[in-house]
Amino acid sequence: MVTYDRLIFELSQPGRSAYSLPKSNFPEYDLQSLQDLMRTETPCLPEVFETDVVRHYTNISQKNFGVETGFYPLGSCTMKYNPKINDEIVANPMFDAIHPLQPAFSIQGVLKLYHELQMMLSEISGLAEFTLNPYAGAHGELTGLMIMKAYHEQRGDYRRKKVIVPDSAHGTNPASTVVSGMEVVEIRSNMQGRVDLEQLKAVLSDDIAGMMLTNPNTLGMFEPDICEITKLVHDAGGLMYYDGANLNAILGKVRPGDMGFDIMHINLHKTFSTPHGGGGPGSGPVGVKQPLVDFLPNPRVKCLDGHYYIQNEKDSIGRISAFFGNFKVWLRALVYIRTLGKENLACVGEYATLNANYVREALKGYYELPIAGFCMHECVFDGLKDQTTGIKTLDVAKRLLDYRMHAPTIYFPLLFHQAIMIEPTETESKQTLDEFIAIMIKIALEAKSDPESLRNAPHDTPVGRIDEVFAARQMILTYKDYLNQKFD
Ligand SMILES: *Cc1c(COP(=O)(O)O)cnc(C)c1O
Repeated sequence: MVTYDRLIFELSQPGRSAYSLPKSNFPEYDLQSLQDLMRTETPCLPEVFETDVVRHYTNISQKNFGVETGFYPLGSCTMKYNPKINDEIVANPMFDAIHPLQPAFSIQGVLKLYHELQMMLSEISGLAEFTLNPYAGAHGELTGLMIMKAYHEQRGDYRRKKVIVPDSAHGTNPASTVVSGMEVVEIRSNMQGRVDLEQLKAVLSDDIAGMMLTNPNTLGMFEPDICEITKLVHDAGGLMYYDGANLNAILGKVRPGDMGFDIMHINLHKTFSTPHGGGGPGSGPVGVKQPLVDFLPNPRVKCLDGHYYIQNEKDSIGRISAFFGNFKVWLRALVYIRTLGKENLACVGEYATLNANYVREALKGYYELPIAGFCMHECVFDGLKDQTTGIKTLDVAKRLLDYRMHAPTIYFPLLFHQAIMIEPTETESKQTLDEFIAIMIKIALEAKSDPESLRNAPHDTPVGRIDEVFAARQMILTYKDYLNQKFD
């Protein structure tokens, strides 16, 4: 039984509207001359009062769950609290009064902010220069891979078209590789969830363009062999790409540039506290080492004697976005970095790592821990320790919703069949973590005492357990689809 609030279309009554305009003093314009541009059917729009609109959308918004309503331990995606000062500063109306086509002399302040942030990211990551133009993590990956490709092609090395991607990588890594026109070579992780050096050596040859890696990887494990890995790839003529979507574990502690990486992207909408989820907006700046600087996308923002200017470079991979990226997203990141300062930024990784290990230790008696040793910013379990109950990771995740907590990332990484990936982040208090731990233990006990209730969870949400296969096969995306659908 599906219960739902009435759709706004069902509230519709012919002739109702949410506005009234004063009588116009101007003669009506005759649209007959534009006949071929006119629609032939009346659009299917709801006819409702202003009160209907306001109540309808307010009620829907209150069904939402976000980092501002509760704990949101989503592994890999860093759902951390976004300080309100970011929004407050960005909301300054002065920032709305500018246009990206204004000449550089008239937007010196904005160009200065752009330049300042890219310098900060360079210092944080140990790379020479950044572009803030890409709109998201995956977009940054594509930009970085285009740079990798351009680098090899400029040297006349057209054979290098293969990119090594470990099986623990985020799904965007292989996808971006294909979109960039290169080929994916997947390597399996070893039993510790890390890169298998022998496997890596076996695939290295003169057709390898580079390797994509995230460190700590998506299992929350740091690669202790990282310097050897980067050396092996470099010796084979490849470049190292760092997937820095989630920088939470190493912020202020370790720099990808020092580990030997040549190119990276950073998700400002994860590590640097910009709200995200639901599809955006995001920002995925890309940084490179010195020999790759000329390939960065246009336009570039440069500084000479305190004067900021916009430049297009001839060796650049070209434009990958309109203008200078998502201005107000990267501006939030700048405010966040400035508010914390260098010292406090280094605490981010410490607390994120401490929190993840605290949760990991507290739950390891109840949930299967497939990898020994300390984790970094996130920990991965492989389902319940007691497998005799038949309760799956999906049941645990759904039950958490009844306790007003967002489910962790599940069934990723693919290495473990019942993966539960928990990233508490540094912004959560010990009290919140203790509450989460208590609930997770309660669920583990329920798996024995009341498994049926777990299988049918959630019970307390607006919509109960969804038939995901049915939902994927029979997509109801529009009101028309909905009308054509029969519910019992
Ligand atoms: C989120 C994430 C990405 C992709 O970032 P988007 O902004 O969603 O495109 C890539 N890699 C890792 C490790 C991630 O966590």
